Amino acid sequence: MLQTTVNTLPERDLAVIWHPYTQMQTAPAPIGIVRGEGACLYDEQDNAYIDATSSWWVNIHGHAHPYMAQQLAAQALQLQHCIFAGYTHPPAVNLAERLLQILPDNQARVFYSDNGSTAVEVALKMALQYWDNKGQRKHKLLAFKNAYHGDTFGAMSVSGRSVFTRVFEDLLFEVHFLDVPSPENITQIIADIAAQDPEQVAAFIFEPLLQGSGGMIMYDATAFDQLLQYCRSKDILLIADEVMTGFGRTGKNFAMENIRTQPDMICLSKGLTGGSMALGVTTSTAAIYDAFLSADKLKTLFHGHSFTANPLACTMALASLDLFIKPECGEQRQRIQIRHQHFLDELQQQPSVKNPRLLGTILAFEVTTNNADGYTNNLADHLHRFFKSRRIMLRPLGNTLYILPPYCITDEQLDAVYDSIRQMLAELKEIV
Ligand code: PMP
Repeated sequence: MLQTTVNTLPERDLAVIWHPYTQMQTAPAPIGIVRGEGACLYDEQDNAYIDATSSWWVNIHGHAHPYMAQQLAAQALQLQHCIFAGYTHPPAVNLAERLLQILPDNQARVFYSDNGSTAVEVALKMALQYWDNKGQRKHKLLAFKNAYHGDTFGAMSVSGRSVFTRVFEDLLFEVHFLDVPSPENITQIIADIAAQDPEQVAAFIFEPLLQGSGGMIMYDATAFDQLLQYCRSKDILLIADEVMTGFGRTGKNFAMENIRTQPDMICLSKGLTGGSMALGVTTSTAAIYDAFLSADKLKTLFHGHSFTANPLACTMALASLDLFIKPECGEQRQRIQIRHQHFLDELQQQPSVKNPRLLGTILAFEVTTNNADGYTNNLADHLHRFFKSRRIMLRPLGNTLYILPPYCITDEQLDAVYDSIRQMLAELKEIV
């Protein structure tokens, strides 16, 4: 029952809301955010918080961007939603055309859904049904250890077994997990796949070059390409989950641009709408699409969502693309990378910093603690609290701390983030 005495936003929230990934019994009250501008979010007292992790890695051009808001308002007066089977609309078609222009040139078709997990579910279903439609039953899948592809059941199945999947393990389908490749282990990984009867493997799903939720793990592009080439030689479909790496995070527009082998399918979300609205995309090659064309209705891809290709979300993706392709956006990313590089050099001298690393606009490192590395390392709570009190939004993954800012973050704001990390490292003994 609603209490009548509560009045602040956090108090009202605590009375009615169940937050994601949050132990509601012990978590501190949430901070009420009432507006955003550029790289900052503002609380009820108008205190600015620097969004140093882009609100779960989604925001790229800044919050409440005026151009995006104008485009959204105009579209809202035109068409807000429309069934997407048997009907279509300009934002969906325009977006598909424009995405295919910037994605690897073997991508030919765009399938819409509404978040990263659904983009992954669609790719998995496409891969499994592709083989079924061709009269070959292949049900084995490959994925990386430590992978994270989402929280729905298919996406959980291809994610590394972890605290996220523990309770549901018996219910997840079987996947063969590989180590991420390096020049040292690539021969062994290929031998490992060869021992799995590769002709039975339908697809390999991966986060290209960077495993996000697994702990911002960065891995070798050349060995990765060797692995993909081997899989291709065995007709294993390649699914690039670019939900996190897409739209410039790793420097290039898409992480797969760093690799010679092209994927068969690509999953997109997060930065797709500049982080403003929920939208998922799964793209495929013409060969995959063609395998679903038939007079036989059973070969149809029976998948869809009420909000598939929502016109407002597609409009925000188009507006975000307008900003993304401007030279300024590339310059912003380069500036962040250069500044991160200087900070990385400094971190390398810090005794309590382990494995500092950098890819594009993402800087990550482990904070040395007495406990094991990983998501449940309770240093995360201490660090989160420390940064929150300094109005810096940094949310470590266990003892892995990372900066993943909106591209519009200013030099001064980046300096404030670096300074807060310097201070954290200096006070580490007191914080823990
Ligand atoms: N794939 C990757 C690589 C991700 O990082 C995430 C989310 N962190 C997802 C899929 C799932 O996306 P969503 O949270 O939108 O379901």
